[in-house]
Amino acid sequence: MHVMDSARLTGLLGIVALTVSTSFASTEAKAGRILIKPKANANEQALLQLGKGQSAVVLQTFPKMGGLQILTLPPNQDQEKVVAEYRRSGLVEFAEMDRVGHVFATPDDPKYLDGTLWALNNTGQNGGLSDADIDAPEAWDLRNSASNIIVAVLDTGVRYTHEDLASNMWVSPNDGSHGWNTIDQNNDPSDAQTHGTMVAGILGAAGNNGKGVTGVAWKVQMIACKCFNSGGSGLVSDVIICMDYAKTNGAKIINASFGFSDSTALSNAVLSLRDAGVIVVAACGNSSANVDVTPTFPACYRFDNIVSVAYTTRNDLLAAPSNFGPTNVHLAAPGENITTTFPATDSFYFSNSGSSFAAPYVSGAIALVLAHFPAEPYQLAIQRILDGVDPLPSLSGKCMTGGRLNLHNALSPPIRLGVVNSDPANFTLRVTAGPNRTCTVEASTNLVSWFPLVTNTTSTAGFYDFRDAASAESAKKFYRALSAP
Ligand code: CA
Ligand code: CA
Repeated sequence: MHVMDSARLTGLLGIVALTVSTSFASTEAKAGRILIKPKANANEQALLQLGKGQSAVVLQTFPKMGGLQILTLPPNQDQEKVVAEYRRSGLVEFAEMDRVGHVFATPDDPKYLDGTLWALNNTGQNGGLSDADIDAPEAWDLRNSASNIIVAVLDTGVRYTHEDLASNMWVSPNDGSHGWNTIDQNNDPSDAQTHGTMVAGILGAAGNNGKGVTGVAWKVQMIACKCFNSGGSGLVSDVIICMDYAKTNGAKIINASFGFSDSTALSNAVLSLRDAGVIVVAACGNSSANVDVTPTFPACYRFDNIVSVAYTTRNDLLAAPSNFGPTNVHLAAPGENITTTFPATDSFYFSNSGSSFAAPYVSGAIALVLAHFPAEPYQLAIQRILDGVDPLPSLSGKCMTGGRLNLHNALSPPIRLGVVNSDPANFTLRVTAGPNRTCTVEASTNLVSWFPLVTNTTSTAGFYDFRDAASAESAKKFYRALSAP
């Protein structure tokens, strides 16, 4: 059978200039400085006196910012107290502590910065739909490295010398190799074609190294297992050899961007991976087919270590060639016009489309989830991915979750809904979802159609409460809370 490559090689994109945007947000305060803005009519003499009393020295005044001042304090001065004094004085519009911020985790890879990698961050560039992406930058603030997680790419091999892959290739402690080659039966898994190198770059190209692209995981350990030849064809037996190699060498995830007809041997091999807690992320194919009717494997094995992936466009539509399956496909991920590492040279990048290139987004996401929640079993990692999808109209009825991968949701604490007051006249719900997360509470009377009641952002303590004044009027009402875009 064949690797799932729709083989539409689209235009080459050049490298464009670098601009790094940095933003700041934090709650720590810097010792020794505060910020005040005197009221326009504030008595200058009184202000001076107040400053003297607090041993505050004006470091800088900004006339174009309404007279905003930076004040420095002696090291022993309690800045909270000083801020309180200023507030109490009635002389300032505001007084606050000087807070420490951190740059957001924005990688410097040129093809990320120039917007080529729409799947990671889509602002509507190149005719795309804004936010039709996996919310990678938001997620990377939570975690961008899965350096201790081993992922095996069972494919046509990988150009492991590529400038954007070399540092994220697993190294065998036995022979120093980067994997195994069942085609030539040796330990050199060089790419026989292009497919495996492209898959590897999507899940684990080195992020923030100033070169090319970035993988979903900036750091990860990828085993290259070559079991498909230059024509993209391979044998079940070779796949099984590679599955065993991956498991033996500590892989937690196998990326399977390929499909076979049913095979008992393959199914047994996947079950043995399950026993070892190894997740198989499988592309579901590119024949515009319903795989519930015409299944492909391993995508359609009903084991809890299988995650089956369809592919979406930059407009959040199910791509026309993508297979689908309401019961056999779990979710979709971006897969159209994906630019990634390409094995022509060690510094070549190219784009392609297909479910093959959607699966590695999910593999990379699971690697980050496993790294972020190391104590959790594989089932929970998969659950986080599935619970975190962005539901899309285009995917409704096309896959189990009806949604597209969202890495930020997968890495965020789960959203929970609790009752804090069950008195019908005062019926109050609490949405718990970790700090600063925007969530919508929806209600339904039939569990089929849901209508939104409120959208709010959780406090820094991680929740918000909502009183449903209309609760008493309804005989039976169900509630749910969802992440809001
Ligand atoms: Ca986004
Ligand atoms: Ca890079």
